[in-house]
Amino acid sequence: SITLGLETSCDETGVGIVRDGVLLGQALASSMDQHIRYGGVVPEVAARAHLESVSQVLRQALTNADVSLDQVDAIAVTSGPGLASSLHVGVSAAKAWALALNKPLYAVHHVAGHVAADTLEHGPLPERSIALIVSGGHSSLLMLGDLATDPIVHLGDTLDDAAGEAFDKVARLLGLPYPGGPSIQRAAETGDPTAVDLPRPLLGSKVSECHRYAFSFSGLKSAVARHVQLAQRTGAPLQAEDVAASFQEAVVDVLVTKAVAACRDHDIDTLLIVGGVAANARLRSVAETRCRAAGITLRVPAPKLCTDNGAMIAAIGDLIVHSGAKPSGYEFGADSSAPLDRSLLV
Ligand code: ATP
Ligand code: MG
Ligand code: FE
Repeated sequence: SITLGLETSCDETGVGIVRDGVLLGQALASSMDQHIRYGGVVPEVAARAHLESVSQVLRQALTNADVSLDQVDAIAVTSGPGLASSLHVGVSAAKAWALALNKPLYAVHHVAGHVAADTLEHGPLPERSIALIVSGGHSSLLMLGDLATDPIVHLGDTLDDAAGEAFDKVARLLGLPYPGGPSIQRAAETGDPTAVDLPRPLLGSKVSECHRYAFSFSGLKSAVARHVQLAQRTGAPLQAEDVAASFQEAVVDVLVTKAVAACRDHDIDTLLIVGGVAANARLRSVAETRCRAAGITLRVPAPKLCTDNGAMIAAIGDLIVHSGAKPSGYEFGADSSAPLDRSLLV
């Protein structure tokens, strides 16, 4: 069967079309350019851009997939979490499409989509896996069974900032352009990762058991801020490349160490790394090295499937359709802070 997925939770308007685990095609529009001068996504601007581009993105995805609308069997839409005004546009559009085509509609969790994106590239998930989700709004270690039907178990979450949020804030401190993740990665390429001594929050033997899989990035961000202020006060030249590389190294070290520990502790040999920060080249390479040494199979989607897109929503929709779940109906709305305990929200 063919499932169409629509994503509008932030500043990306994405439509993907998946047939039985295979991505047939997708299209993406982004309002990122309109947010650059504000240094972050402006909800009203993002919502208007979704409204203006959603029909064109749908048409383009159908063309790219070589599928006609009447061939679509089901529709999945991100109903949360995300920016409320952005979510409203997608949920409304998906309801209209489903009503017009008389097809079942599924309200899905955005982050479950990030996880499902990997199945488009690497096939079905094993019976049990650990997922490290690192994005603009999430930093969690999850224990997964069947993604479509089983509850999602949180081993740990961030106590404060998400990893992507930390990248974005540190980039701003260093005067690097938005979005911060790609900027920091680029700057770090020519920097020395050992130049600035930065903490590894919640890592090491002194960390309490309840924080074994928890993250904290706001202290790391403050340490970078202090370093920048000191340089400004003493007039020492600030080597943004060195700070970027040192920061990136600290984040990557914490993420990979905890993810590998979660696999070992639970005797699970598959680790997924998903979400926008999984596009980070240093994270991918350190994870690969350490997983190989630990005998863990690492699955990370291609960078284009890590950041927000429509294919990932079609992917989780396709899994849910195949599980035989009941459609969500038309009464649901957008849940901007939907908890990540199930893939199907309604
Ligand atoms: P969520 O998925 O939690 O709702 P979101 O959808 O806004 O949040 P994503 O699109 O999944 O987030 O990821 C965006 C984040 O990923 C941004 O914080 C961005 O800086 C970060 N990011 C993107 N590319 C990279 C990279 N190469 N290195 C590090 N971070 C990156
Ligand atoms: Mg985005
Ligand atoms: Fe996302």
